[in-house]
Amino acid sequence: MTAPTFDLGKLHGGLRLPAHKAGSTNNTIYDIPVPSQLVLPILQHVGDPAQPIVGIGERVLKGQLIAETDGALGAPIHASSSGKIVAIERWPISRRFGDPGPCIVIKTDGEDRAIEHVVTRPPYASLPPDTLLLTILQGGVVGLGGAVFPTAQKLMQANTCQIDHLILNGVECEPYISCDDVLMRERAHEVIGGAQILMHALSLDSCYIVVESDKPEALDALSEVMTELADERLVLKQVPSIYPSGGEDQLVQLVTNREVPSGGLPSDVGCLVQNVGTAAAIYDWIQNNEPLISRITTITGDGIAQPMNVRARIGTTVADIVNFAGGYTDVAKQLIIGGPMTGKSVSTDRVPIVKATNCVLVLSETPSPGPELPCIRCGDCAAVCPVQLLPQQLFWYACADDEKHLRSYGLTDCIECGCCDLVCPSHIPLTFDFRKAKGRIRELADEKARAARARLRFEARNERLEREQSDREQELAKQKAVAKKAGPAAIAEILKRKNKPDEE
Ligand code: SF4
Ligand code: SF4
Repeated sequence: MTAPTFDLGKLHGGLRLPAHKAGSTNNTIYDIPVPSQLVLPILQHVGDPAQPIVGIGERVLKGQLIAETDGALGAPIHASSSGKIVAIERWPISRRFGDPGPCIVIKTDGEDRAIEHVVTRPPYASLPPDTLLLTILQGGVVGLGGAVFPTAQKLMQANTCQIDHLILNGVECEPYISCDDVLMRERAHEVIGGAQILMHALSLDSCYIVVESDKPEALDALSEVMTELADERLVLKQVPSIYPSGGEDQLVQLVTNREVPSGGLPSDVGCLVQNVGTAAAIYDWIQNNEPLISRITTITGDGIAQPMNVRARIGTTVADIVNFAGGYTDVAKQLIIGGPMTGKSVSTDRVPIVKATNCVLVLSETPSPGPELPCIRCGDCAAVCPVQLLPQQLFWYACADDEKHLRSYGLTDCIECGCCDLVCPSHIPLTFDFRKAKGRIRELADEKARAARARLRFEARNERLEREQSDREQELAKQKAVAKKAGPAAIAEILKRKNKPDEE
């Protein structure tokens, strides 16, 4: 049984891309053995880095908290297996394209011994939503669809708005990536269970679970669990496979026909979107006491001997995963973390798998698209842009470094999907240019904020000095009045003191 296609909203633009998923979905999910060493970056999420709370030489157990968040936005990090902390040092990481970032390194002991939870949690359904949200925060769960926004904080923000639909995102539209597909096929129960926990945390009565129509096995598995549970709040929707319909705003538009305003969030139109992997991670934490210490990752591409999906401990290096998948083929040339459209090329396979790593893609050399030519104003880029931007105009303003027009033409709404690049007959690397321009705008904003803070400090200091000067003058006037009565010697003494304030 598969879900019927519902009336759908209209997705602007987008592209039908070759899937390249058959290789990795042929088999079951493989569990990668615990490696001899795990490397855990302290920043695996949007927000502030977590702060290590363990020292070198300390022994840790699987699931033990090793870095905690002390900022307004962040997520804690837990040991993915038992062993000894051997270093807290800089190590190549994927978010920096293979350049080093701060990490906690665990030498595993092979026992994989888990921490014992002394407190038994009551069933989630008996917890008030606020308590449940705080519990989710402790599990280190972040958005596993790629955004890695700390989940509990996203839910807390949503709880301040009028939300009427939870949307579970099973739309995995980027080529090559299939980790969500196999998750839904093999762990549909946990995905749906996670949706029910999320609905309780948000006090919601409606959840759409959205899957593309080219994933019949996933649709069947979810349908089966839903029939078993007979929970009328859950509705399965199937959508056509068009890239990038899995983008949050695009999905909201497609499923509810509501348009997320420019610069806004799905919660502005009453929706909260969570990835299916995030829902399963919440289930694992709330029902099984297992924090986010592993994830399913696709390892694929013509540069990999045996494409597959693996469940790997967070901190396993890409090299370990490639080995497990039979190693590189002779044609392997490029290593990308993520998919071909939104992933990051990295310079080394020493980078570890993090919470965000949905795919390790190894490709042969792709033929060069040809030299970059001038824009011919064909408009193809605008026709495919899912955010209805005008990429050719943005490109113009990006070249001119024109922040005002970049903003007014909606650069900050660009989701960096890469559709415009793909169709541009002039081979202009539009997305790359937009990413750079966004970086510059962010830097300018940071600079402005820094300048504003410095101005405030300067003004506060001036006010203080003026106040102190005025106090001193009043005091002097008072003393003069008193001294006038006392005679000229007292006045001379007061003036002497005024002229040498530092000696007082
Ligand atoms: S990369 Fe940005 S501008 Fe280009 S199609 Fe995607 S959203 Fe539009
Ligand atoms: S697709 Fe390329 S050539 Fe055509 S308008 Fe856009 S930027 Fe210019």
